[in-house]
Amino acid sequence: MAVDSDGVDLSHAVQVADRIWWVGHMAPGSDLNCHTYLIEQGEQSVLLDPGSRVTFEHTLQKIEAIIPFSHIRWFICHHPDPDVTASLPLIDAMTDRKDARIVTHPRAGALIRHYGISIPFWQVEEHQWRLQLPDRLLQFVFTPYAHFPAAFCTFDEHSGTLFSSNLFGGFNQGQGLFAQNENYFESIRIFHEHYMPSRDVLGHALSHIEKYPVRVIAPQHGAIIPEQLAGYVINKLKGVECGLYLMAGEIADIQRLSRLNGLLKDITSTMIVSRDFRDIAERLLLVLQQMLPATLLEFFVQLEDETVLHLAPASRYRGVVVSPPQQISSLFGIHRQRWNASAGGYSFELLWTSQEENGSGSHWLVLPLFKREEDSIYGVAVIHLEQWIERTEEIERVSSEMCSALQVAVERETIYRGIELERQRFYERSIRDSLTGLFTRFYMEDTLRRLFEIHDRNGGTQVALAMLDIDYFKRLNDSYGHVQGDDVLRQVAQIIRADARAGDIPVRLGGEEFGIFVVGAPAADIPAIAERLRRRVAGIRFKGSLSQLKVTVSVGTAIRQQGESIPGFIERADLALYRAKKRGRNQVCFAGRTGGSGQWSLSF
Ligand code: GH3
Ligand code: MG
Ligand code: MG
Repeated sequence: MAVDSDGVDLSHAVQVADRIWWVGHMAPGSDLNCHTYLIEQGEQSVLLDPGSRVTFEHTLQKIEAIIPFSHIRWFICHHPDPDVTASLPLIDAMTDRKDARIVTHPRAGALIRHYGISIPFWQVEEHQWRLQLPDRLLQFVFTPYAHFPAAFCTFDEHSGTLFSSNLFGGFNQGQGLFAQNENYFESIRIFHEHYMPSRDVLGHALSHIEKYPVRVIAPQHGAIIPEQLAGYVINKLKGVECGLYLMAGEIADIQRLSRLNGLLKDITSTMIVSRDFRDIAERLLLVLQQMLPATLLEFFVQLEDETVLHLAPASRYRGVVVSPPQQISSLFGIHRQRWNASAGGYSFELLWTSQEENGSGSHWLVLPLFKREEDSIYGVAVIHLEQWIERTEEIERVSSEMCSALQVAVERETIYRGIELERQRFYERSIRDSLTGLFTRFYMEDTLRRLFEIHDRNGGTQVALAMLDIDYFKRLNDSYGHVQGDDVLRQVAQIIRADARAGDIPVRLGGEEFGIFVVGAPAADIPAIAERLRRRVAGIRFKGSLSQLKVTVSVGTAIRQQGESIPGFIERADLALYRAKKRGRNQVCFAGRTGGSGQWSLSF
């Protein structure tokens, strides 16, 4: 006795609904069962999708256990495939009743007639797509291109059974005659992804089906879908991808094709769902890992000014300026046609990058990103691989899908990063004096404001200023010229910069005026710091035409008092500096408190 996985005895007809019987044959080991159904109606009985020469013997046995075969008057053929109609010559030979009819669409009839059968056709469209039986009305539902141009289904209103032909068909993946739960939808999904050429075709068919109160779905392939699952399946089918064979190329294995399709969908949805580039990159790596031994995904992108940005996990894909490896930089600017020719028609290239010292290296899958208007490579996605792989059609599909999707994401990111970089450079320019490399007043004010806030709050972080002015600099300029003057400014600035600790703020305050803001505990040592600076400047040995030159600075220092403004603080140091000048230059003066008695005043 042949029983299915759920214990249903398949060696006999199986009742599906009131007076409806399954009389098909499930061949062991086949992944495509063909179902034939019988509607028992006395001498008006109906056989739906009679079956092939292979199955007919079994079908006949099952029928005869219920009714004599001669009681069948109607042979409905939903489409003209051999697994539906190849038994018709056998049936023709067995049937001698004059009123027997093959129920078809004319387009299917035009093919079936090549069997040379004498049973006449009964064309559905000549009978308003209806067939009245003794206890029920069969309605034919046109579902064009659902597998065949003139495909149709049959709906029995009496029992709510839809004989759905290939619609709702499924592959047999070890399940029984009846679908047991929602998981069965996977078999249907794969079947339709391949058999249905497009969502339009499927949608059109489903929109017709939805007009009928379907309770049971009896397809020609797959499993019978019982009432509790019918609604679920109809609904789920609406969202299924179609036409996978259109993209199949050389991949004939539909399971593989299905997985590939899933991957491609994941790539697309990653691009739609994620706006953040890091998120996109991290998700893409996970998607890629489903088919490749991928360990890391990184990007190199060349900006307009030829700077190369590196977007990688280490920098959280923020885009860091780098000089890329030679294998990468040599790709920039290559025209699409040249790339296609060199990559052998593939959209990606596999590279082995060796790190020569120890002979080790890594495998890279490199995807070029093309600039839209110029069609030349401006960036690459590099997928690091754990081991060497062969180029396959699947990898090609995923690569080209990724390329086009990444194109937009990377371009968007590059624009963001480019702007960010420009902003950073602009900021750098605004905070650094180009001649001396010291900070500008702009930066100084910004930083002091924050430091003073802390100082005002708890008096903790002290700030002191040593303000330096080169003595008789005008004279120096006049004797040696501005170019030499600039050189002196640079060298004095160098002394100040070298003396500053991390956290101090060395500033060029104006032409030949410098300041060093000393932050924290050492602020109290400002007179000593100022004196050290003065000595060091006086000790500079200039070279070349300046070898006779002696440069000195006068220095005014002040320690910031709580509540004091930036200009007020600088002003106090400036007054001390003025005093140092007045007292003969090349010396340090220490400012007293504002309005104080001057007891803080110190001079060296
Ligand atoms: P004092 O000892 O009183 O400070 O005399 P001084 O000549 O240094 O003072 P003054 O302020 O009169 O002159 C400063 C000179 O610095 C005037 C200006 O031409 C020069 N100077 C300002 N900025 C620059 C610069 O960027 N490069 C050069 N070479 N000279 C500059
Ligand atoms: Mg001056
Ligand atoms: Mg001066």
